[in-house]
Amino acid sequence: MKPRQIATAFKRLQKQNPNPRTELNYESEFELLIAVILSAQATDVSVNLATNKLYAVANTPHSIRALGVEKLKQYIKTIGLFNTKANNVIKTCGILIENHNGEVPQTREELEALPGVGRKTANVILNTAFGQPTIAVDTHIFRVSNRTGIAPGKDVVAVEKALLEAVPERFKIDAHHWLILLGRYTCVARKPKCETCLLNDICDTAFSWVTPSKT
Ligand code: SF4
Repeated sequence: MKPRQIATAFKRLQKQNPNPRTELNYESEFELLIAVILSAQATDVSVNLATNKLYAVANTPHSIRALGVEKLKQYIKTIGLFNTKANNVIKTCGILIENHNGEVPQTREELEALPGVGRKTANVILNTAFGQPTIAVDTHIFRVSNRTGIAPGKDVVAVEKALLEAVPERFKIDAHHWLILLGRYTCVARKPKCETCLLNDICDTAFSWVTPSKT
């Protein structure tokens, strides 16, 4: 996709959804951090079902740490990898209490030092909680960036770098949400819905994913 077309793509995405939001439920930076840790290889819907109950009883580093690993597991056992995630969440709560006065840190280095927090999670927190123009690349954004030609790359770090160069400054803060929603609902993995996609006249691979019907 050429730079002019990339600008057009984001103008259309913005017009369709001027205020995109994460589909994870949260009411504080800490709740968002825990939800994002839990969302690795799990759907937002499954995370919301668990956190709705968890946050009703514990939604601070102190209160979740006080639950302990075994009680925490009872709240998140419907989420994939819950054993590992429970351990990571309790350790993360401890570090927030000991090193950050119970607050979520605002730098990439400090975020990535938390158990269960990798580059993608740190990018989500920096962007969604703290308004920084980072772009977290998950499986949806990786697929959409390559298919559209907005930011082709062989791995997530290459795509993230390409996106940061290709996306016009004014769209960067919301680019993550627009691309994730496009990938989740339209440019889906198996059969992208090119017929109804608002980028189908400028996308590099529009309609090339449709298997021709046999006659
Ligand atoms: Fe994906 Fe098709 Fe839209 Fe391109 S036109 S972004 S391949 S759904």
